[in-house]
Amino acid sequence: MRSTGSWYDVRDADGHMWQCRLKGKFKIKGLKVTNPIAVGDKVQFDIEDAVENTGIILDIDPRENYLIRQSVHKTAHAHMLAANIDQAILVATLYFPRTSLGFIDRFLVTAESFRIPVILIFNKQDLLNADMLEFEAELRELYESLGYTCLATEALSGKGIEEVRALLRGKVSVLSGHSGVGKSSLINAIAPDLALRTKEVSSFANKGVHTTTFAEMFELEPDTYLVDSPGIKELGLADIAPAEISHYFPEMRELLNQCRYHDCLHINEPGCAVKEGINEGCIAISRYESYLSMVGGQDNRR
Ligand code: GDP
Ligand code: ZN
Repeated sequence: MRSTGSWYDVRDADGHMWQCRLKGKFKIKGLKVTNPIAVGDKVQFDIEDAVENTGIILDIDPRENYLIRQSVHKTAHAHMLAANIDQAILVATLYFPRTSLGFIDRFLVTAESFRIPVILIFNKQDLLNADMLEFEAELRELYESLGYTCLATEALSGKGIEEVRALLRGKVSVLSGHSGVGKSSLINAIAPDLALRTKEVSSFANKGVHTTTFAEMFELEPDTYLVDSPGIKELGLADIAPAEISHYFPEMRELLNQCRYHDCLHINEPGCAVKEGINEGCIAISRYESYLSMVGGQDNRR
């Protein structure tokens, strides 16, 4: 439920909390990570002290998935943000601040690569004029057609909050999005008691009481969790080879075996089914632009 880097709060089947440590070294196959265990992990542990409620973690159950943050230096260790996540909620705003489509698409590609479904929430509806609302409706249609659930909300007035609550129910979710898009306000609207607790945690952390990495899973309702972990709010592009990136664009994925060259990067190659898809209007220009900026590397990130 919570990790400070050296201690792990583990909740048992009856709902009791145990402060646990790791025994020995845990390795993750093919991955260099700073932390072998993350919030969301399911573990086996031995009771060390039944009065103090401490325990020793012996084993980690196989993970459904996990989110890691790649270090900028390829040789350095990656950091596990969370494990066994059902869905990622990306909060975006078209205005104040403006979330770029490039950012949204990079997030979607990263989530696809981790096999985590994404829900897009467009917040601050109340700030949009007619043109912006129309643009947003087009975006929602685009992303819905790609298989991503989209919602429009107003965190302050409460519009759309009941739908958000319904989508979260019974699941483990992470909440992402740029600073200022209204993540805290949404949590506040969904679960006021919880918002208070997360606030305490962050002010606590800001005072430097916790110098170590701090990640936590909050229970919104029985069986409904929200993961808060440093670095989860602005997931960067995962370490994906250029040739693989198109596999994480659902609308390109289905065309890939129709390109003339099997190693087609869909840039200038003749007989490219993706380029043809753009001409025929089944691939949105904005999506293709995002694709190009990802294949092209670091320099044209918006
Ligand atoms: P966070 O950084 O993503 O957690 O964003 P906050 O929840 O702190 O919100 C940033 C600012 O946007 C605050 O001043 C909020 O009051 C405001 N805000 C949040 N949601 C809405 C909304 O739906 N409409 C408007 N007009 N303002 C909002
Ligand atoms: Zn191609």
